[in-house]
Amino acid sequence: MIFRASVLTLFPELFPGPLGASLAGRALAEGLWSLDVHDVRDAASDRHRSVDDTPAGGGPGMVMRADVLAAAIDAASPTDDERPRLLMSPRGRKLDQALAGVLASGPGVVVIAGRFEGVDERVIEGRNLHEVSIGDYVLAGGEVAAMVLLETVVRLLPGVMGNVESAASESFVGGLLEYPQYTRPQVWEGRAIPEMLTSGDHGKIAEWRRREALKVTRERRPDLLPAADQAEEE
Ligand code: SAH
Repeated sequence: MIFRASVLTLFPELFPGPLGASLAGRALAEGLWSLDVHDVRDAASDRHRSVDDTPAGGGPGMVMRADVLAAAIDAASPTDDERPRLLMSPRGRKLDQALAGVLASGPGVVVIAGRFEGVDERVIEGRNLHEVSIGDYVLAGGEVAAMVLLETVVRLLPGVMGNVESAASESFVGGLLEYPQYTRPQVWEGRAIPEMLTSGDHGKIAEWRRREALKVTRERRPDLLPAADQAEEE
């Protein structure tokens, strides 16, 4: 069974967008994962095909209607669907590498992109939506957030990344930020590649990289260190 992604949006023309390029795009073309995109507006039943209405209790903006969004969800994801239903939302659990890993090891995801001021709370409860945020800032819509989530999950699927080892050494994987990377030319604008990396001593190189990863993490993201210590112990 391949990883199945379904996206619900008012702007289906934005997909696959960046998910159609490079690693994710090639994997999509090769059938390593699938993507189906649903226009929420197709679930609207009135003449004007309206999907939103004014907020109960007053206030600015519009809110996506529970009945329309639920009908769209039901059309894209049957009740016995085993995939988690994720609502992109600044109120949600913050997306990180650990969540991406959990999602990548499952059957797929149903991702709902909000617009306007968000969605009627009742559909979140009634359709068991899990809110996921991509960070503490507010976007105009959930589409870009959905792409961020799918891109980070898809690159973890088996066979998507050519080099499995590169996934194992990346930022966040061992709880640390990545060590600095270099490639040719050997000297550029008077700056040489650190000598250690040209020594050919793989044990020493691994040690150096670990030290550099610790240093950059301590400098930039000391908050990551306790989790890295724990990962080390396990
Ligand atoms: N009024 C809402 C923001 C609505 S932004 C609030 O204050 O919480 C419109 C839509 O953009 C949201 O429904 C959501 O789907 C998406 N969105 C905005 N910021 C996001 C973020 N940080 N992470 C994930 N989705 C986001």
